[in-house]
Parts: sequence; structure tokens; C-alpha cells
Amino acid sequence: PQDKDELGRSTWKFLHTMSVNYPEKPSIQEQKDMVNFLGLFGKFYPCAPCAEDFRKDLEQNPPKVESDMALSRWLCQAHNRVNIKVGKPEFDCSKVLERWRDGWKD
Ligand code: FAD
Repeated sequence: PQDKDELGRSTWKFLHTMSVNYPEKPSIQEQKDMVNFLGLFGKFYPCAPCAEDFRKDLEQNPPKVESDMALSRWLCQAHNRVNIKVGKPEFDCSKVLERWRDGWKD
């Protein structure tokens, strides 16, 4: 339904924007906090089947939290796994900064 899609779009915007603004050199505590954040996000994301699959995906593909680039790439790949699942085209992850931090050139 439209709700799930609107929620999804807004949530991806938030998550990708967060990832590209994550520290370049996060402290150990920040790294732990991000792992915890993503786990808790997966617990409370208000689309139950989406959240359940996200929790499974976190187990199979643990988040990369050692830098902004690592997290941004990991999240792009996680989003692509959802894209594949729901039949949407894969996104070119080399364009993730352009899309979510610097803005498209056009
Ligand atoms: P979205 O997928 O919402 O993407 C928004 C924009 O992000 C795109 O227009 C594009 O510019 C950019 N983008 C696309 N792919 C990437 C990428 N890989 N990396 C960076 N940027 C990208 N829907 C379901 O039907 N079933 C599910 O199980 C499901 N699980 C979800 C789990 C999570 C954690 C989230 C946040 C959403 C989930 N959704 C699920 C919703 C779904 O992913 C879409 O958000 C929704 O279908 C709307 O799609 P959209 O075409 O507007 O683009």
C-alpha cells in the first residue's frame, strides 16, 4: 500500500542521510552506538514484515560501522537487497554520496 511506500521513502532518506554524515573516524563508542541503533531500528520499524526481514539481514550482513564510507556503502547494499526483494532496480552505490550528500549535478 501507499503507506508502506511513503514510510519507506522517508525512512531511506533519513537512513542514507545519517550514513553519509556519520563520522569519518568514529570512536569505538560511536561504532557500538550505531550497531545498537540499527538493531533497535529493526525492532521498532513500523512495518512488521519489513522489520523482520531487516533483522534477518542484519544477522547475515552485519553493519560496517568503521567509517562514513563503510556505513554508506553497507546501507546502499542493504537497500539494494530490499530493492531486489521487492522487484525494484538496483542502485549504483558509487553514486550514493552524489545522491544523499552532495546532490545530483543536474
Ligand atoms: P525507495 O526504495 O524508497 O528509495 C528512495 C530513493 O532512494 C530512490 O528514489 C533512489 O533515489 C534512492 N535509492 C534507491 N536505492 C538505493 C540504494 N540502494 N542506496 C541508496 N539510495 C537508493 N517494502 C516492501 O514492499 N517490502 C519490504 O519488505 C520492505 N522492507 C523495507 C525495509 C526497510 C528497512 C525500509 C526502510 C523500507 C522497506 N520497504 C519495503 C519499502 C521499500 O524499500 C521502498 O521504500 C518503497 O517501496 C518505496 O520505493 P521507492 O521506489 O519510492 O524508492
